Order: sequence, then C-alpha cells, then structure tokens
Amino acid sequence: MKPGAPQNEAAHIIQELEKQKLKPVPLYGVERTVIAVIGEERDLNIGHLEAMPGVEKVMRVVEPYKLVSKNTKKEPTIIEVNGVKIGSSQIAAIAGPCAVESEEQMESVMKDLSKTGIKIVRAGAFKPRTDPYSFQGLGSQGLKILRETADRHSMATITEVLDTRDVEMVCEFSDMIQIGARNMQNFSLLKEVGTTKKPILLKRGMGATVEELLLAAEYILSKGNPNVILCERGIRTFEKETRNTLALATVPLVKELSHLPIIVDPTHATGKRSLIEPMTKAAIAAGADGFIIEVHPNPEAALSDAQQQLTPQQFSELMKNLQPIIAAVNKTI
Ligand code: PEP
Ligand code: MN
Repeated sequence: MKPGAPQNEAAHIIQELEKQKLKPVPLYGVERTVIAVIGEERDLNIGHLEAMPGVEKVMRVVEPYKLVSKNTKKEPTIIEVNGVKIGSSQIAAIAGPCAVESEEQMESVMKDLSKTGIKIVRAGAFKPRTDPYSFQGLGSQGLKILRETADRHSMATITEVLDTRDVEMVCEFSDMIQIGARNMQNFSLLKEVGTTKKPILLKRGMGATVEELLLAAEYILSKGNPNVILCERGIRTFEKETRNTLALATVPLVKELSHLPIIVDPTHATGKRSLIEPMTKAAIAAGADGFIIEVHPNPEAALSDAQQQLTPQQFSELMKNLQPIIAAVNKTI
C-alpha cells in the first residue's frame, strides 16, 4: 500500500483478495501496510489490483517463501522479550542450562545469570535425546520449576516443545518457545506454534539448507504468528573434532534474504567449551542479533550435554570479553 494509505483501503483490498479465493496476510508496518498474498499466481489479476485505491505496487515474490522474505517487508522484525529487543541494535543474550534438573540447580544458575545481566533464561523441560534411555527432561514439573525460579529473578524463559500435544501447556509456562533442530521440519508442530502469539526460536535442522530453514519459518508466519527468531546452531559435516560445523555465513545470508532476526548457538554448534567464546565473538562480528549459550552451575554433573556447558564464572568472563566486539559493530547488550 502507499505510505499512509488509510486502513479502509487496505481492508478493501483484503476483501477483494478473499473474494478471489486468495489468502491475504497483512503486515502492518510503521510507514506502510504490506499485504502478502498466498495462493495460485494464475488466480491473481495484477492489473485490477494495481488500479485499486491506496495500492502502490503489486509484485511477484519469486522466492518460495513470501512472508519471511525481505521483498515482502524491508524493515527488520524486532521482537521484544522482557525488555530485550531481539533484532535491533541490542545483542540478545540468552543463557541457561541444557535441561531443568532441579529447583536448586535453576535457582543457583539464575542467581548468577541475573548478576551478569541476563534477562532471558533457557532450559529444557522436554529433551530430544538420541538415546531413548538417557535423561528425557522433567516434563511438566520442569516447566513449573523454570517458571517459578524465573519469576523470582524477573527473567523471561525459553524452553523447547517436542510435541503438538504439549504446545498449550508450554505456552502457559514459558515466554518463548524453542523448536529444536530435530523438529525444524516437523510441520504439524510448526503449524501448531504458528497459531500462538509466543516468540518462537526456530533452530536450523542439522541437515537443513537455509532455504529449508526459511520455509520452516514461513509455516509459522503463514499460520499468523510473525514472532520468529531464527537460530544457526551448526550443521552436520564430515568434521569430527566439533559436534557440528558452525555455518556462520548463514547470518549475513539470512540478513540479505529475510527481515527475521537470527541468533547463533555456539554451544551446540561446537560442543566444546573452549570454542564457545571465540565463536560467539565471530557470530557478533558476522551480524548476529544475539546468542544462546548453555550455562550450568556444575557442568560435570549435568544430566545432559555435560561437556559443552559453561560455568557461571566462565560465562561472566565471556560476557566481559564480548564488549569490544559489540562496540566495534556499533551495538549494545
Ligand atoms: C538444545 O538447545 O538444548 C538443543 C537440543 O538444541 P538443538 O535442537 O540445536 O540440538
Ligand atoms: Mn543441550
């Protein structure tokens, strides 16, 4: 729509598109409204639409993804969680243990993380484990512990959902929802979280291309939830020294293709404590909107991912050491 076009003109276009059996998805920006249209291109009468009042331009989007494309919306999407503006010039720092293990563990880690200025805490209540006999997470009890301890420290929470049947419950307890790498193409789950309004952290599948990642995000947006944050967490390659291979070019590439924020998970990307700080610095230098790092009060005793979690002390050092990089890219934290 033209900048400043009145709402009723946009509403008229939406009505017209619906009449043509197309699916209009309006994106209300500060300056202008963009109406994305989903459906068969042959059903769209471009000339007719272009002549309607308030319309500036009608164009085809050639990428298979439309709502997440930068062609549809030029301004970056900013998602605010507990005062952290993810996608802005503020670096979003998310930290916490791999899994919720006990009230004492969560209380202890949150106390330390809040001293470091962390506003969003991560911890899994449902863990996607390769081995069915290893710790699967505390489930609903874990969600409760996460919520109660986070509230005591005025923290927002992010936790993973594995199953469509748990989406409602997880939404009740957590401020943000994580879709893990193993579920990036679980289309029922993507559609289900798309019907909520929660910010969704969508992690790249370990064998997924960037286009597949963006199409997975498209599933969520097309169901009506625009609050998606992408996450590069490394992909599987022939390299065995690191748990995964951190594909950092994804960050500037996604910035060219999409308006959605993208953060980096250097923990799962490397699987090695010593590599986390250098790769966090590199992620910030590459233009990432933030990072998510595993921190455990006593990593050696962790029930999952013991070898890659930082101690609160190591994490606080890392936060200090990031400062010059954050300043160099003209951002704040
Ligand atoms: C996690 O964040 O704990 C996790 C399981 O990550 P990923 O889905 O990236 O492997
Ligand atoms: Mn983990």
